[in-house]
Amino acid sequence: MALILTLASPFPVSLAARRPRLPSKKTTHDKKQSHTSIGFGGDKKHELWRCVEGCGACCKLQKGPSFASPEEIFTHPSDLELYRSLIGPDGWCVHFQKSTRTCSIYADRPYFCRVEPDIFESLYGIHPKKFNKEACSSCRDTIKAIYGSNSEELCNFNNSTRGIF
Ligand code: SF4
Ligand code: SF4
Repeated sequence: MALILTLASPFPVSLAARRPRLPSKKTTHDKKQSHTSIGFGGDKKHELWRCVEGCGACCKLQKGPSFASPEEIFTHPSDLELYRSLIGPDGWCVHFQKSTRTCSIYADRPYFCRVEPDIFESLYGIHPKKFNKEACSSCRDTIKAIYGSNSEELCNFNNSTRGIF
C-alpha cells in the first residue's frame, strides 16, 4: 500500500517550507491484508497501527488535492518514475486486484508501499515514536477519501486498531 499523508499531516522540513499546511481540511487519511474514526470506545493514544483485510484504499494512487503529491514526496527521480508507472487509467495501482482487494506483487512491492517506521521517517520525517499515530491517521484519511466517512472499511479499521495495549 502506498500510504500518502495529507497536506494537513506533518511533513519533512523541506516540504513544509514549500507548501504550507492546510488548515484543517483534514479530510484526513498494507494492503494485501488491508479503518475508523475512533468513536467506538477506542483510545487514540494507545492505538497500534495495523493494516486490515478488505481495504486497499491506499492503492488508489491518484489521490485528491488534500494529499501530498508524488512530486512533493519523492526526492529521487527513479522513485517518482516508479510511482507514476504504477498508476492505471482509473487511478488505481495496476497491481491492485479489485476483486480481492489484494496486491498481486505483495512480496515484491516497492519500498514506499511498506508501512513501516523507517519508511515513514525517510519519506515524511516522522519520528518512529510517532509512527503508530501517524500511520493510523493516514489510513483514516485515505479510507475516508476512498470509501467515505461512514464506510464499513473505516469501521473495520477503527475496530482493528483501537484498544491494543
Ligand atoms: S504495488 Fe501493491 S501495495 Fe503497492 S500500490 Fe500497488 S497494489 Fe498497492
Ligand atoms: S489504507 Fe491502511 S488499512 Fe487500508 S490497505 Fe492501506 S494500509 Fe491497509
